Amino acid sequence: MLLCTGQLHAQSKTVTNVSAIRVIVFGAHPDDCDLGAGGIASIYSSMGHKVKFVSLTNGDKGHQDMGGGALASRRLKEAKEAARIWGIEYDVLDNHDGELLPTLENRMSVIKLIREWNADIVIAPRTNDYHPDHRNTGVLVQDAAYLVIVPNILSSVPPLTKNPVFLYFRDRFQRPNPFRPDIAIDITAALAKKVEGLDAHVSQFYEWLPWTNQDLDNVPKDQSERKKWLLDAMEKRSAVTPEIKISLDKWYGKERSAQIKHVEVFEICEYGKQPTPDEIKHLFPMIP
Ligand SMILES: [Zn+2]
Repeated sequence: MLLCTGQLHAQSKTVTNVSAIRVIVFGAHPDDCDLGAGGIASIYSSMGHKVKFVSLTNGDKGHQDMGGGALASRRLKEAKEAARIWGIEYDVLDNHDGELLPTLENRMSVIKLIREWNADIVIAPRTNDYHPDHRNTGVLVQDAAYLVIVPNILSSVPPLTKNPVFLYFRDRFQRPNPFRPDIAIDITAALAKKVEGLDAHVSQFYEWLPWTNQDLDNVPKDQSERKKWLLDAMEKRSAVTPEIKISLDKWYGKERSAQIKHVEVFEICEYGKQPTPDEIKHLFPMIP
């Protein structure tokens, strides 16, 4: 279950007789996983690997003109549509937006989801973040990192026999320490597909987030124009910085990394399995 045993290095190759890599990604809201890992999700899926996104809240506060059950229902549909486009699974838990706490009940839900997915890789936010739901998602997943292998914790679901690799999404927060780009993945060819999925989150990328940024007047009204506007924003967001270039050089070699324009980047959590460079290459088979 942990690592594919065959050679699987080219992105064009799909999984045949080797075990699929199983990735589970946790966000606080039904668009967080999408922003942080929509590119790699679509790549893994296209190669025959398995990805599940989980939103720990239903997102029922994230809009300026609507809320409650109507908004939660709208956002669930948006998340499911993004999942359909990328060929992945998407679970949205029915916790209220803005009220997520690191309770024992929520910790058990996270442990159960990681075990049931039989995860090789678990991705979540770091615990330094402006939003309490993001911070608490980070805490909940960190708290699960060891307990997923402990049989007597949640005896109703078998424990994992090997600890997954836990990774953090990229973020911009500097204290107490800045994000470290341990693993940078080329999503240049997948960026359009990533934006296809993000485009399904109409309530967020074209309504709520621009409203919070006082940018609502700049969102194009035409559907194809607004998708181009989103693509432009995502091109900027996923651009290669000098720190990321160092990581890209390590994984792709300098010649190839010079061609890479867009990335998703992850930091290895100190909890969970500590992978060797060879194990990272197996877990990220899109690295050539
Ligand atoms: Zn969020």
